Amino acid sequence: MKFDVIIIGGGLAGLTCGIALQQQGKHCAIINNGQAAMDFSSGSLDLLSQLPDGSAVENFVESYPQFAQQLPHHPYSLLGQEQVIAKAQAFEQFAQSLNLALIGSYKENHFRVTPLGGLRRTWLSADSVPTLPLSQTAYPHKHIAVLGIEGYHDFQPQLLADNLKQNPQFAHCEVKIGYLSIPQLDELRTNAREFRSVNISQVLEYKLAFSELVQEIKQAANGASAVFLPACFGIENQAFFQSLKQASGLNLYELPTLPPSLLGMRQRKNLRAKFEKLGGMMLNGDKALRADIADQQVKALYSQLHQDDALYADHFVLASGHYFSSGIVAEFERIREPIFDLDIVGNGDFDNNNRLSWTKDRFSSPQPYQSVGVKINAKCQVQKCGEILTNLYAVGSVIGGYNNLELGCSSGVAVVTALTVAEQILAGGK
Ligand SMILES: Cc1cc2nc3c(=O)[nH]c(=O)nc-3n(C[C@H](O)[C@H](O)[C@H](O)COP(=O)(O)OP(=O)(O)OC[C@H]3O[C@@H](n4cnc5c(N)ncnc54)[C@H](O)[C@@H]3O)c2cc1C
Repeated sequence: MKFDVIIIGGGLAGLTCGIALQQQGKHCAIINNGQAAMDFSSGSLDLLSQLPDGSAVENFVESYPQFAQQLPHHPYSLLGQEQVIAKAQAFEQFAQSLNLALIGSYKENHFRVTPLGGLRRTWLSADSVPTLPLSQTAYPHKHIAVLGIEGYHDFQPQLLADNLKQNPQFAHCEVKIGYLSIPQLDELRTNAREFRSVNISQVLEYKLAFSELVQEIKQAANGASAVFLPACFGIENQAFFQSLKQASGLNLYELPTLPPSLLGMRQRKNLRAKFEKLGGMMLNGDKALRADIADQQVKALYSQLHQDDALYADHFVLASGHYFSSGIVAEFERIREPIFDLDIVGNGDFDNNNRLSWTKDRFSSPQPYQSVGVKINAKCQVQKCGEILTNLYAVGSVIGGYNNLELGCSSGVAVVTALTVAEQILAGGK
């Protein structure tokens, strides 16, 4: 099979790149062998939340010069300020055109309420999630009800309410908790492994009388002016949640639960549907295994389902994620990228030949192994044995040189590199 572009990985980075290419008439295939990080994420996308020195980022543009100085190997530093901002802005428009229902701007981070009642800086959040501008001193709703679902342990109203009150922005609020009692969930409840947001959402949306659910929420809300619920309402999109909001007449907000996360899953389903609608081909359940490389180019790709009959393309994009998705694997002797065995990079004292340099003694310190990923140049092209591969690009969290957990920048890196690579390929590559 021959395509214009083959993308390995169908997470945020691979799908964003694929859509941008299909929109301009390139024929793409995405090989994908599993769930993506989005299915487990909060659904809020971080551009940059913190600098390596620990200072909080309010405005990306203002923080960029200091950031690039502190982390010259970060993908944002390699791409340059102008490119990063242009692509972040382009993604905001892209998300709007896809009706991802995200609010926020690269010009200023905002706070989102976390499931544990903390406040976290982020770039874009679903408009159904409780958020506050950084400058807001008091949350606008004084009476808040945090409602759980009886027997559901992946969302803890009491913990959320207690912690929420510790934030100065919520100190004036009266936060009450309650539980929705939904007997139709009893069947799931008998098996704790099945009592997850995905299964619950199916019962709530398809097996329960809508008016009964509305009534139950109204009763449990008990007159509160804002109601926080676990994100268990609507797996495909926000329509079901919006109709509950309308029918109840309440200010309903949803909060991410422990994974799986409906907020992230909805986004991925939306992106995938768009990619396929544009004519892109999803090769789901297949795994890229190895490639033929000659003259600094990938010539052919072999996958689990195409072991003899190779896949061909003019350009290849590696969007296979980090350790979580096996885009990067850690073996006893070394950390490596498993498909092409590309050159990798890590921060600070990281030395791939010295296992002791992979970790720091203090558990809570940023760990060097977390910054490991493939090495790219300013065009996001990768290298093998010190030589650039001219038609193979990396996008998203497979790229090294930064620690996402420390900085809060992974989704930003995913979309900025994805749109950069799409632009490179459309311009003809090289
Ligand atoms: C648990 C968790 C929670 C997170 N929460 C947040 C959050 O709240 N906010 C935020 O901004 N970021 C969050 N992140 C960061 C998240 O990684 C990025 O936001 C982004 O989604 C990464 O996208 P990606 O496309 O690079 O990789 P991934 O989403 O990991 O996608 C890679 C895909 O490639 C596939 N793949 C791998 N190898 C192969 C192969 N050989 N053949 C075929 N397919 C392959 C994998 O199965 C996977 O589907 C979270 C990450 C994790 C792991």
